[in-house]
Order: sequence, then structure tokens, then C-alpha cells
Amino acid sequence: MQKTLSDLPQIQTLLGLPTIADVIARFSHAETADALREIIAGLRADLRAGRAPLFPDFQSMEFAEALSARIEVARAPSLTPVINATGILIHTNLGRARMAPQAIAAMQATGAAASNLEFDLATGKRGSRHSHVEHLICTLTGAEAAVVVNNCAAAVLLGLMGTANGRSVVASRGELIEIGGSFRLPDVIAQSGATLREVGTTNKTRVDDYARAIDADTAVLLKSHTSNFKIVGFTAAPDRRDLARLAAQHDVILMEDLGSGVLIDLSPYGLPDEPVVADILKSGVDLVMFSGDKLLGGPQAGIIAGRADIVADLKAHPLMRALRVDKSSLAALEATLRLYLPPFDPVQTIPVLQMLSAPLAQVESRAITLTDALTAKGVSGVALHESAAYVGGGSLPDQALPSFAVSLRMPDVSAQKLTAALRAQKTPVIGRIERDQVMLDMRTVWDAELPAIVAAVEQINRR
Ligand SMILES: *Cc1c(COP(=O)(O)O)cnc(C)c1O
Repeated sequence: MQKTLSDLPQIQTLLGLPTIADVIARFSHAETADALREIIAGLRADLRAGRAPLFPDFQSMEFAEALSARIEVARAPSLTPVINATGILIHTNLGRARMAPQAIAAMQATGAAASNLEFDLATGKRGSRHSHVEHLICTLTGAEAAVVVNNCAAAVLLGLMGTANGRSVVASRGELIEIGGSFRLPDVIAQSGATLREVGTTNKTRVDDYARAIDADTAVLLKSHTSNFKIVGFTAAPDRRDLARLAAQHDVILMEDLGSGVLIDLSPYGLPDEPVVADILKSGVDLVMFSGDKLLGGPQAGIIAGRADIVADLKAHPLMRALRVDKSSLAALEATLRLYLPPFDPVQTIPVLQMLSAPLAQVESRAITLTDALTAKGVSGVALHESAAYVGGGSLPDQALPSFAVSLRMPDVSAQKLTAALRAQKTPVIGRIERDQVMLDMRTVWDAELPAIVAAVEQINRR
């Protein structure tokens, strides 16, 4: 007989069934009730839409098992590792920088035990969490002092709040950036309590433009890295040394939001335009901010480095505690920064820099290995292509890195369907679509990840 809305059982009644009591005992009352509500809602929607749904036998073992399976699926971890085959080295949506084993070990160790996070082992008195990485940052950048907060956005906010609250910040119209996630520099300046004085034009700003805007209210000249776009052609931006001289003359602070912030020269690896933090500080910038998980290759963190008097003020700021870095990130950051010091070679040990610096032949051989492995498993429609990888993470939008990709094409399966199937695997594989085929870029993939890719593609191919 055709079922109607009045045939739908009450959730309370279902929860009282002996078979369902077993499900509650295995999981929880809340999860079981949620799953039942979803099932009943589905049936109700079908009835309302005039689709005659098949009612399960609510008292059966089969129904209890299906319910358990549903709760099991809902319990699956949400945040999970994936394989980044996009060719974007620092992919914001895929968790940005992957970390070095040393950084992961440090997080694990400080997570599993008590630590001297804010305890001075020499005196037995209260210590400062800022102490653990400050000397390393200073060694690596030449800064007088440094402090670390939650991320670079927090670093910029704190830097401005601590120096320009109630006063004005002078910035070039060509550098009023928006990066993802609602970080818009003019809005951040406003939230810091400062007033923005825009100077120059979109494409050209000169030292004189800054000079004319300085008055008794001015606290900061702010430069920022135009991380995710590039203005080309008829352009001008002042030399940092000239701006530093101007700032010193007027006793205002020259601050720079570097975004990525690199600690070593990356020009040998095809990134000639990314200034090194130490050089920026040497040119007279008073305070710089940069991310821990972009080209630095560590955990999410925001590093503030520069003049000791300014850093001391920021450490004492009332909102420091709201923005401070947590112990796991601090542990990972310390371990990552150590990899920049001898005997280590950061380019050999920090994953982001390894991907960046990998010789093209190595990327090609990875692509050949994958192509051969897939072909050996009977997967057809696999081909090798020259490709372009990018740094990503809002860094260096026009710097293509030579790479190799493996393309996949399956009969009667659209590229969209194929990427969806790759995402649905136990270890999701994230590729990109180009000219109607799925591309798996090998510059961002590790050799150790190839077997999981082969298993994923083979599984899809078998269906
Ligand atoms: C990425 C970026 C930020 C924000 O850094 P997060 O670490 O993501 O908070 C700020 N400014 C610039 C110029 C950036 O590129």
C-alpha cells in the first residue's frame, strides 16, 4: 500500500526500539537521533514531492546496520591528508606549506609532554614564550628583535595597532592589497585604529609623494608586498633606502608587510624578484612582517622582526595574548628555522624549498615512473606533458616553474567526473583540469605518494 506522511514513525518511538538501543550503545544517543532525523526527513521530502519512497523495516537488523554505517560515515575525520598534484607549491586551500620531518617531530614532542613554554629553566622562574625563537630569527635576518604571532595577518594588525593607533599610516595606492580571506589592507589599517593616507597612483609612487603626506599625525610609512598581482609597464616605486631616510628624518616608522618573506636568495631557482628579509632590514626598514607557512616552509605563524624598541612595545601590547602563537606552531617554527643554519641546507630539507629547487629531470623522472606504473596496471589514456608549476599562496603570480604532469583520460568519463572520483578516494588526489583532461603535476608530489595515486587511478579505472 502507498505510504503517506502519517506512516512516518516518531523519532522517539524509533529510539525506543531494542535494535536501535544497540546502535545508541555503540555510538551515542545524539548521533543516533541525528541519523534517524536525517532518514525521516529524506522520506518526508520524497513523500511531499510525490516520489513514493520505499520505507525500510525500522525494527529490522538491516535497518540498525544501515543506521550504524551512516553514523560511521558521519564520524569519518573531516580534516585529512590529500595529495597535492595541482602544481601549486603553497596551495592555500590545501594547507599551504607542508613541513619538514624535524618540525613535525618537534610538534609531536611538545604536544605529548609538558614543556618550558613560559618557564625559564635556568632560574626556575616564569619565562617568555617569545624567547624560544627570537634569537634564531635575529640570527637569520639580522634583526635586533623579533616576536611571533598567529599569522602574518595578525602580525600586520599588531604592528599597526602598536605603532599607529589614533595616528596616520601613509601607504602607496599601488600597494593597497587584498589577499584572500577578507584581508584588505585599508580595512586592517582602519581596524588597527589608524587612519590611512593614500599616496601616489596605482602604477607610480615616488618618495616625494610620501614626503608630502607626512605631518604631525603620521606614525608609519607602510610598504606591502603585492603578493598576488603584478603591475607591469609604466611603473615606479621608491627605493627602500630613500624611504628609510625619509622616515628617519621625520621620526616615523618604516614598516613592510612582506607576505611570504624569504630567508635565503631564491634566484638560483627561478625566483629572482623575491627580496631576502635580511636585505630589506639592512636597507633601513624598521619593522617587517612575514608568514611562517609560505616560502619559509614552516607552520602557520606571523613573524615580526626589526627594531628592538618597537618589538618591545608590541610584546607588551594588550592584544598580544589574543594574537600570540601556540606552542605546537612555536615548536615547529623553531625546528624549521634551525634548518636554515649549518650543517643543514634548507633547500635540501624544507619541503617547500625542495619542491621549488627540484631539478626538472627529477620531476620528469617522477612523471615517467607514474606513467609507467599506471600503464603497467592496464590504465590507458595516460600521457606525459611539459607543465608549469607555481609558488601560490599569494606569492609570485607570474613566475612559472618548469614542471611535468601526467594527464589522465578515460573513455566515457568527463574530466570533471574523473577529478571528483580522485577526490573521493581514501587518500584524495587533487589535480587540475586543462583542455578537458585531468593533469597531475609532479613538482608538488612526493615519490612516496606515487603508490597512492596509482591505487586511486586503478580503482577508478576498474569501475
Ligand atoms: C599572505 C599575506 C598576508 C597574510 O599572511 P597569513 O600568514 O596568511 O596571515 C599578509 N600580507 C601579504 C602581503 C601576504 O602575501
